[in-house]
Amino acid sequence: MQTLSRRNKNLKEGGIVSNSLDQLRERLDGIDGAILEALANRQQVVSDISHLKLDVPDELRDPRREEDVLSRLVETGRSSGLDPYFVTRLFREVLDHSVRRQQEHLSDQRDPDQRIEAITVGYQGTDGAYSHIAARKQFAARDADVSYEGYSSFAEMLEDVRDGKIDYAVLPIDNTTAGSINEAYDLLARMDLALVGEEVQRVDHCLMALEPVPLASIRRIHSHPQALVQCGDFLRTLKHCQVESSEDTAMAAKRLGRDQDLSEAAIASEEAAQLYGLHIIKRSIANQKENFTRFVVVAKQPVRFDTRISCKTSIIFATRHEEGALLGCLNVLAEHHLNLTKLESRPRPNTPWEYLFYVDFEGNVAESGVEDGLRALASQTSFLRILGSYPARTPKETKPADPRPPRLPAAPAADAPRPEASVLQMLEKKPYKLVSRAQRMEDTRVHVGSVVIGGPRPVMIAGPCSVESRDQVFACARKVKELGGDILRGGCFKPRTSPYAFQGLGYEGLDLLEEAGRECGLPIITEVLHPADVERVAVKADILQLGARNMQNFSLLKEVGRVDRPVLLKRGMMASVDEWLAAAEYILAHGNQQVILCERGIRTFETATRNTLDLSAVPVARERTHLPIIVDPSHACGTWRWVSPMTTAALAVGAHGVMVEIHPKPDEALSDGPQALDFQKFETLMAQIQSQR
Ligand code: PEP
Ligand code: MN
Repeated sequence: MQTLSRRNKNLKEGGIVSNSLDQLRERLDGIDGAILEALANRQQVVSDISHLKLDVPDELRDPRREEDVLSRLVETGRSSGLDPYFVTRLFREVLDHSVRRQQEHLSDQRDPDQRIEAITVGYQGTDGAYSHIAARKQFAARDADVSYEGYSSFAEMLEDVRDGKIDYAVLPIDNTTAGSINEAYDLLARMDLALVGEEVQRVDHCLMALEPVPLASIRRIHSHPQALVQCGDFLRTLKHCQVESSEDTAMAAKRLGRDQDLSEAAIASEEAAQLYGLHIIKRSIANQKENFTRFVVVAKQPVRFDTRISCKTSIIFATRHEEGALLGCLNVLAEHHLNLTKLESRPRPNTPWEYLFYVDFEGNVAESGVEDGLRALASQTSFLRILGSYPARTPKETKPADPRPPRLPAAPAADAPRPEASVLQMLEKKPYKLVSRAQRMEDTRVHVGSVVIGGPRPVMIAGPCSVESRDQVFACARKVKELGGDILRGGCFKPRTSPYAFQGLGYEGLDLLEEAGRECGLPIITEVLHPADVERVAVKADILQLGARNMQNFSLLKEVGRVDRPVLLKRGMMASVDEWLAAAEYILAHGNQQVILCERGIRTFETATRNTLDLSAVPVARERTHLPIIVDPSHACGTWRWVSPMTTAALAVGAHGVMVEIHPKPDEALSDGPQALDFQKFETLMAQIQSQR
């Protein structure tokens, strides 16, 4: 109250407000200066460490230590009221920069000839293009005077590297949505250049205009044709709007600034908007939320990197004209334990129906094992060129920042139970084949981003029953991340018993869930109710949930069987274990093998709990199927009070994880409030399952 009246008083006396605002801004400037000074000091210490590390044979990167440092910082930050997610994101950048500085230092010391005081880096496009951002990121840690030069074509840029006019070129080679960039591969085969680095850049398309105009007033949108395709779903929602292609995204933004037409907009990066003084109308408008481009750094000569830096090697080869030739080559790499990260083929110039193969694998030609492997490979091929070994930036860096997830206890029954002969005989008679343990002895592991469901580490899926508002779902997401949960849940299409109950926010809710998951680096799961919605929901959700009431909705089962998205299939409340597995069989039989089962309680005569959690179904199902099984104690119990003991029990009987409902204010929840854990109780639950370790 006191603050409010003070503020009102200040408003009346405008002079006082601006005085104190100036003072506060001055304080902020002082603090920012101190942060910069601290970062500069930190960089100096990193340099000193680099000197010490020169003679130590260990790997440069110590992920364990990095994680320890982060958890310590999160704890210290928390006690000063700082958001753990913010602290993690900030310090991941700082730590990453240190590692890059150390890598640069090692490379400089071992290869003094390579050291250049002033370097020029080429990229394709205009200032603010994704290539420009990637180039700046790659060379940020370099102790040299770096200047950047934009080119209108890849060929011209690489020719300038070849002719010594520029030192490096940053060349896009692969995009996670559009695939390989063929022209880049063909130029690398044609020109005798070396690869000395790689960079991974997130592509986050934004719609921008001269002023913050409403979407409806935009008549024309400019961008690179690739970006227009990548944002097709969004563009189709805009009526009366034309699209026009331009040579690159940043050029589209730059032109907007020049033309001064309020009915025009561009699709480009946030950096381009800043650079050309434009307003972002909408962010993240691409069809696919995860969109990354991989760039290679091209130089005239290869660089020999220190073996303590984790490297990748790129090669080009042509096979001999013999049966099974490609398989023979890949076998050589496998025999030498060279882990492939990319395989691409392109037509061999002037030789119809013959192909050049491009392979990237983990390793450094400076290691003897890699050298042996490449020698053996040469004898199997008709042509082999080593493009170079360079510090790897994938896949670690494509993952979102990750506040230290504490490890959950390992499921005691995690090893696949070996079925006895009598069990196998029993399984032969079942109405399912593909899901049967008789078909596949090993446990299936479903990968969702960096989360593995079905492995030794049980997963925690948590979130609200329904997505109700931005604040509610973001608060839940941050809590799940902070406490070490793996996946964010949230219902958008709700299967409610009564038609008068809250039916969910639909696609609007899905957008909020997606944004919250993305901000916190959590994959998301949501229920899909209708076959017609499957494809659209699958674009945004990382896992599709089929609810208990839909376990035998056969058209829905067939539809989710046709998409390439993991499906969590809840057990129907009146279904036997075998009926449940037969329902899963529908999904596998239609192509999708990524199914997770979820036991959520069945109807019995017992009314003390909402349903009866059938925990014996976990070991029974694990014997009968290779699919992972998780347990939902929230819907089984119907009250938050039994959620914690039943979670412990579920993990004890071998569930691969649990899914629980949480809510910032369970009393005000629009659905299933009584069974939701508030944040305090969720924290206690998480702590409790940690201590079982
Ligand atoms: C849910 O998880 O939101 C849900 C509706 O669960 P069930 O299908 O198990 O009732
Ligand atoms: Mn619910």
